[in-house]
Amino acid sequence: MVKETKYYEVLGVSPNATEQELKKAYKTGALKYHPDKNHNNPAAEQKFKEISHAYEILSDPQKRQIYDQYGEAGLEGGAGGAGGGMAAEDLFAQFFGGSGFGGGLGGMFGGGMGGHSRGPQKAKTIHHVHNVSLEDIYRGKVSKLALQRSIICPKCEGRGGKEGAVRRCTTCDGHGTKTMMRQMGPMIQRFQTVCPDCQGEGEIVKEKDRCKQCMGKKTVVDRKVLHVHVDRGVKSGTKVEFRGEGDQAPGILAGDVVFQIEQKSHARFTRKDDDLLYHADIDLVTALAGGNIYIEHLDERWLSVEILPGEAIAPGAVKMIRGQGMPSYRHHDYGNMYIQFNVKFPEKNWTQDPAAFEALRKYLPSPDVVNTAPTESMTEPADLEDPDNNSKAGFGSTPMDEDEDHEPHGERVQCASQ
Ligand SMILES: [Zn+2]
Ligand SMILES: [Zn+2]
Repeated sequence: MVKETKYYEVLGVSPNATEQELKKAYKTGALKYHPDKNHNNPAAEQKFKEISHAYEILSDPQKRQIYDQYGEAGLEGGAGGAGGGMAAEDLFAQFFGGSGFGGGLGGMFGGGMGGHSRGPQKAKTIHHVHNVSLEDIYRGKVSKLALQRSIICPKCEGRGGKEGAVRRCTTCDGHGTKTMMRQMGPMIQRFQTVCPDCQGEGEIVKEKDRCKQCMGKKTVVDRKVLHVHVDRGVKSGTKVEFRGEGDQAPGILAGDVVFQIEQKSHARFTRKDDDLLYHADIDLVTALAGGNIYIEHLDERWLSVEILPGEAIAPGAVKMIRGQGMPSYRHHDYGNMYIQFNVKFPEKNWTQDPAAFEALRKYLPSPDVVNTAPTESMTEPADLEDPDNNSKAGFGSTPMDEDEDHEPHGERVQCASQ
């Protein structure tokens, strides 16, 4: 007959409860009343502390015996007093943080391995970068992505074996942890470590009783298809989260899946926020005399852009088409399309017809740059050549410079492209 039943009632078990039952009751209660799951709920926090304290006492055979015999009063100056009570959070972290649940999933679970985790232990988030074409971002789409994840074995419901075949680990007596002693000078320090025989599970399943589906691992690999909404105009780096759709393991919360949307680079367009930049080749005569250029958009439309006669598009000039950029993610309108012109000059020796040159002189405006020498006697004739392409020499460099690490000159780039 026990003297008091308060600690048993807190855990919701009978005074005859086995260690396994106590452990299970603590697990269930601690997960339910943990402060991280009960924000601004002092009642839950109190309950969490009570459960933790009750389990701390009852899980220690020596303390339990004292409690059963003398009640709470017996613990005050006795076995419970020396080391002081373990803080509820520490007990929780030790319980949920210290072991590799579901063996064979090593490395899958992140936080908490150090024993300082807050809140219920949760399977590590699965991160995936979802690369999307600019076309798909322009139109919006739903991507169906198949995910490989671990789920609680449906056959054994995460037990790892036949019902009743799961035995308490005798090494640790079902605690999952082993108490060790260490001499520290004049003091003997007690500390706990994860049980090596059951890997902290507190239970062992015999080879022959092991679940055939999960081979005793308690989890199996599952394929799940998730529908990831790629919203129109979504920006690179946007995260789409699926809570609790990730890995499952016994005794911990299911993990999340996070898809990070990244835009693939595009052959024609460069995106900046909601604007698009397009590089258009245009021949000199169109730049001067006008004509049409055609731009293939992201949704199978072609834009016909008229260059007005006399517009005189200069090399590198930038023009804008309003409203032909990307759809704006928030505001239901569109950015702009910027067009940078690359004016294509005619090939060398495109004509030798003197009448053509005469006509150009006649029609093109006379240069406003004064370009005459001050006196005739100071001038000397100078021949114009193409730079030597074979030696790759250009402005500001000699073949000796080849091995040196320096920024190419802007002029050099221009020479090479003409
Ligand atoms: Zn199973
Ligand atoms: Zn064990």
